[in-house]
Amino acid sequence: MSRKITKDQYAAAFAVAVDFYQGRTTLTAGSNYLCETHSLNMASARDYMYDFKCMMNGQVFHRAMSADAVDYFFFEIERQFGLDALRNAVQATSLHITYFEGLRRGKLNKLRGVVEKYQQHLEITRYADLEKTFQQQVVDSLQANPEARRQRLKAASTKPKQMQVTSTVFIRNPDVVAETLIRANGVCENCKQPAPFLKKSDGLPYLEVHHKTRLADGGDDTVENTLALCPNCHRRFHFGL
Ligand SMILES: [Zn+2]
Ligand SMILES: [Zn+2]
Repeated sequence: MSRKITKDQYAAAFAVAVDFYQGRTTLTAGSNYLCETHSLNMASARDYMYDFKCMMNGQVFHRAMSADAVDYFFFEIERQFGLDALRNAVQATSLHITYFEGLRRGKLNKLRGVVEKYQQHLEITRYADLEKTFQQQVVDSLQANPEARRQRLKAASTKPKQMQVTSTVFIRNPDVVAETLIRANGVCENCKQPAPFLKKSDGLPYLEVHHKTRLADGGDDTVENTLALCPNCHRRFHFGL
């Protein structure tokens, strides 16, 4: 049943499921709409709406959804609701797989592949996410009442909290870095100024190799996708306007 559902149909179901989740439509009105305008059968329409709600809440869902539809839901959940919501959705789907396979009616290998793809994506973006949150907290602090900030500083612990994270790292190709540095020949490939200093360790000009399309976004680890940058330009690429 779910196999025959087209991308147009599950995309429409997603939009209605969001409305349902946010209280803008009811299960009945939403499934009627999907029936009439997108020829989804009533049961499937309701399943999508329920499953989406479970995904947002990180709870197991029981009604089956195709791997392609789940992939689309994950993508849209991250885009519209962010990484925490995606984390819940991946968790809910992982629980669904355990539930379904426990019934011994078959294996959900394709769906497990989708879950694993997004689990990896979540791990990779975790550090970037922490850094982004921190930068926002700095902005909030800058805008806070100075007296309140000073009071907080007085009361704050002088030793930072620690946190353990597991993470997926990219094993970069040293030849790509070497070839990029040779191409740059000691000059920043953005501002065309010489490297700011020579390295104590080997006496070579200090430049940082930057990936134009981030590896975390699927960029290639190739010399075509890299630039050798001075630290200022590198920071600007990541943080500048
Ligand atoms: Zn530069
Ligand atoms: Zn970079």
